[in-house]
Amino acid sequence: MTSIFKPARTALGLVGLLVAAHAIGQAPSIADRYGKNLDEQISRDYPGIELLYKDLHANPELAFAEVRTAKKLADELRGLGFDVTEGVGKTGVVGILRNGQGPTIMVRTELDALPMEEKTSLSYASNIKTTYAGKETFVAHSCGHDLHMAAWVGTAMTLANIRGQWQGTLMFVAQPAEEVLSGAKAMLDDGLFKRFGKPDFAFALHTWPMAYGEIGFNVGAVTSNSDGFEAVFHGRGAHGSAPDKSIDPVLMASRFVVDVQGVISREKDPFQFGVFSVGAIQGGTSGNIIPDNVTLRGTIRSYDQSVRTKMHEGIRRTAKAAAATSGAPEPEVNILPGGNAVINNAALVERTEATLRAALGANIKRMPPITPSEDFSEYADAGVPAMFFLVGVYDPKDVEASRRPGGKPLPGNHSPSFAPVPEPTIKSSVKAMSLAVLTALQR
Ligand SMILES: [Zn+2]
Ligand SMILES: [Zn+2]
Repeated sequence: MTSIFKPARTALGLVGLLVAAHAIGQAPSIADRYGKNLDEQISRDYPGIELLYKDLHANPELAFAEVRTAKKLADELRGLGFDVTEGVGKTGVVGILRNGQGPTIMVRTELDALPMEEKTSLSYASNIKTTYAGKETFVAHSCGHDLHMAAWVGTAMTLANIRGQWQGTLMFVAQPAEEVLSGAKAMLDDGLFKRFGKPDFAFALHTWPMAYGEIGFNVGAVTSNSDGFEAVFHGRGAHGSAPDKSIDPVLMASRFVVDVQGVISREKDPFQFGVFSVGAIQGGTSGNIIPDNVTLRGTIRSYDQSVRTKMHEGIRRTAKAAAATSGAPEPEVNILPGGNAVINNAALVERTEATLRAALGANIKRMPPITPSEDFSEYADAGVPAMFFLVGVYDPKDVEASRRPGGKPLPGNHSPSFAPVPEPTIKSSVKAMSLAVLTALQR
């Protein structure tokens, strides 16, 4: 009996093995299936994408004023056969490409630049000026949003060109006003997910001062929760020579600024990220007058929601205590919610990581969260599993040199000298984003 069944079992075993290998290798097979094809596709499209990048870089626009920029992107998507709607959330653009049964995948770029002067010596540097908060200011793409737009268009081109090879719906979203953390909310308030459908997954990438070709991400928080802080300490003004006639708000504010760091160092879990910085103190007019009031402004950053709540409570309590110690009325404390941390979905990251690692190898790395904030969190908070990843922008040799003792640090995002190397950065961004979308399209 054994001898009769042996060949059959072997044959079945082989089939089983092949099926299992196919199932296990499903994600990496996307890299095998599309990898080389994508490289050729991206190289073919690249010259046009670089022209677009340099044009966007030289013509930056501020938050909610991205009219020319939005029009350019809308035209690009229309040319690729997307169904395009402009003016969503003021200047936002939504492009939909329906391509049969399958999931809907959202890819977001930002449209806006920063009110600052560019100090690179690039031939395509910006010298655009505009009026911002009543003052004339330069405008520059010093956060890399121009590169995100180029990669976004490049990804749309790549995926549209191979539409015979996948099924589903692409939802390309160009969002205004990321720098002021209002554009995502503006688009959602304008019915982004009601009018165009709620996507199954959402992706966004961001430039970061690491080596080009490198892609970094994490599971869980990848950017910080950001909250504003404002407090007014009320006292009683008096002559500087007669402090006994006063309730001194300068003393209260000083006590608060020092004591509140105890919330960070003694109450918060030391393994959890949390920062509270007071950036402005305003009160008084003259050295010999104790003022009535002192106003403080600051910023609170965290990754974890429970740490965030604990810091808010501690900050309020310390402010009240500082006033109570002086016998002063309760201070006014306002904690102004800013952006939430972007939380990367674990299952989505793991799936995408398998494909990216198979295609791009050692350049794919898990990295700790970054301290800035991002309103891409709005889409995740609206219930869409999301992944936000960082792409490197500098020559690996320069990055290595900058890390040697005495090495010159490379300019980061928001530096006037921030200058990504376009070709390798855009190409690897397009490839990584295209592979991420193709992976998410396989259900
Ligand atoms: Zn920025
Ligand atoms: Zn940015």
